[in-house]
Formats: sequence, C-alpha cells, structure tokens
Amino acid sequence: MLALLACPAAGDKGKASAATAPGEFNTDSAMSYIRQQVAFGPRIPGTAGSQKTGDWIVAHLKATSDVVVEQNWTHTTATGAKIPLRNIFARYKPDATERILYVTHWDTRPEANEETDPAKKKLPIDGANDGASGVALLLAIADALKKTPPNVGVDLLFVDGEDYGTFTPDIDVLLGSSYFAEHLPNPQYKPMIGVLWDMIGDADLQIYQEINSVNAAPEIVQRVWGKAKELGYESSFIPQAKVPITDDHIPLIKAGLRVVDVIDIDYDYHHKISDTIDKVSAKSMRIVGDVALALLRP
Ligand SMILES: [Zn+2]
Repeated sequence: MLALLACPAAGDKGKASAATAPGEFNTDSAMSYIRQQVAFGPRIPGTAGSQKTGDWIVAHLKATSDVVVEQNWTHTTATGAKIPLRNIFARYKPDATERILYVTHWDTRPEANEETDPAKKKLPIDGANDGASGVALLLAIADALKKTPPNVGVDLLFVDGEDYGTFTPDIDVLLGSSYFAEHLPNPQYKPMIGVLWDMIGDADLQIYQEINSVNAAPEIVQRVWGKAKELGYESSFIPQAKVPITDDHIPLIKAGLRVVDVIDIDYDYHHKISDTIDKVSAKSMRIVGDVALALLRP
C-alpha cells in the first residue's frame, strides 16, 4: 500500500499503551504464526513459499472456522506474465445476515524497492510486518472464535497479490481485493462492519485514522478507535485522520462494502529487506488483537 502524503511530524511518536490485562487474544500464538510465515520464505505469488503458506492458512482455517472458500485464478500482469493467485475466505455462521468482515493480505512484496542500495532493491522482503502480522492477527482470532463462537456472522478474508506490482499508478497491486470485489459471496453481501488490518506489528505503534476510510465509513472508524479508547489503547490508536492510503479497502469500498483500513504506515522498514521478525512487537500484536477481538464481541 502507499501513503499518498507521507508527512510524519517530528516528535509525535506516541508510546504504546502499557495495559496488561490478559485478554482472549493469544499473543504468543500470533507471534508464532508470524515466525512460521517468515520461515516459509517470501510469499510471492507463484513461488513455493506462497504455495506452502496458502496451504498452511487453509489448514488452520479448516480446523477453526465453519467453512473455508478459496478463490483461485490467474492474473496477467502488465508485462504479460501469468501469475497464479489465491484468496482464502473463512466464515463463521455463514447463514447469519449480520456480519463483520476482516481482511488482510497474505502475499509479500517481490522487491525491496525502498532500499537505497541498488543491489538490495531487487531482493524479496520477509514481510514480517507487511503481510505476516495481519495474517497472524486473523489466525489468532480464528483460534479465539473456535473456542468461543461469535454471536454475529464473521468472515476472515486473506487476499493475495496486494503488493505484487507498483503503486501510483497502481499496476498489478490490490489484486486479491479487486478479485473479491468482483466475485462477492452473493449479490446481497453487505457486512455491517468491514476492517482491513495491515502492518499492525510495529513496536512504535501509531495507528492514525486513514482518510479514505473516514470519508467512506466514518461510523466504522469511530467504532474501531472508540473501542481502542475503551480498552486504554488511545496512545496507539490515535483518533486523528492523517493521510489517505491506497490499500485493499479501496476496491471493496468501490464495490459498495463499508471497509476501513487499520494500518500503521509510519514504519521505517516498509518495503525493505529489514522488514524482519525482530521489528514486530508482541505488545503491538496484543493491542491490535484485543481491539479486533473486542469488536467481534458486541
Ligand atoms: Zn506493502
């Protein structure tokens, strides 16, 4: 994803909340799911690492959700290459009309284009935060929903190909979310709440409200940041709009779904080979996990 206006103000780095209440969200599991994804290797569409990771996500969800649906298709890139893509969609109470949709991308970027060293620019990234953190969040939520099923319908969507190509102009990016937007589960599909979780493991967690989300679904933004405040996490979920970001929520919003982006775009290792597991903080995962799970327990 890309921030259209990167303007981090000096000295505005909020400290993550020190709240320590034990929650339903299992942070140790979430951290282990990040480690496992990184161990599979880069999750670039068409690679062995992608195949193994996709299979592992599906197996996890088959054991923890009511139904798992896969969307498999081939995308032709701007250069004419054909790449296999795979969305994974896990459902709880699939017949419930009141639904909450959580989205994350599970692919990783093929090139570390934000590196300054030309030799490093062409290397793939681990994507410990950009990719693995969101997947780990949703898999740990799946564990919690297996233990205590939700009262509303819940859908967990893992989209592929978010980060494959280039942004601005957007070429060969947001592929899985665009595909899902064109192939919804049914024509009436309208979750009451939709949240995209992306890059949520930064140790210096500062999640500002995202401007496209505020414009498209302000009440959902209020709900997410309000829940964070209720839990004592206002210093991590900062209730101010900052920048518009091109991310997987955009194709979904265009398809009429109300989805907001929860993302900490101010990450020093974004699209660099240094986006490694040591940059991801268990405390940040717990904060976001607590908020995400609490929203599913109205
Ligand atoms: Zn990215």
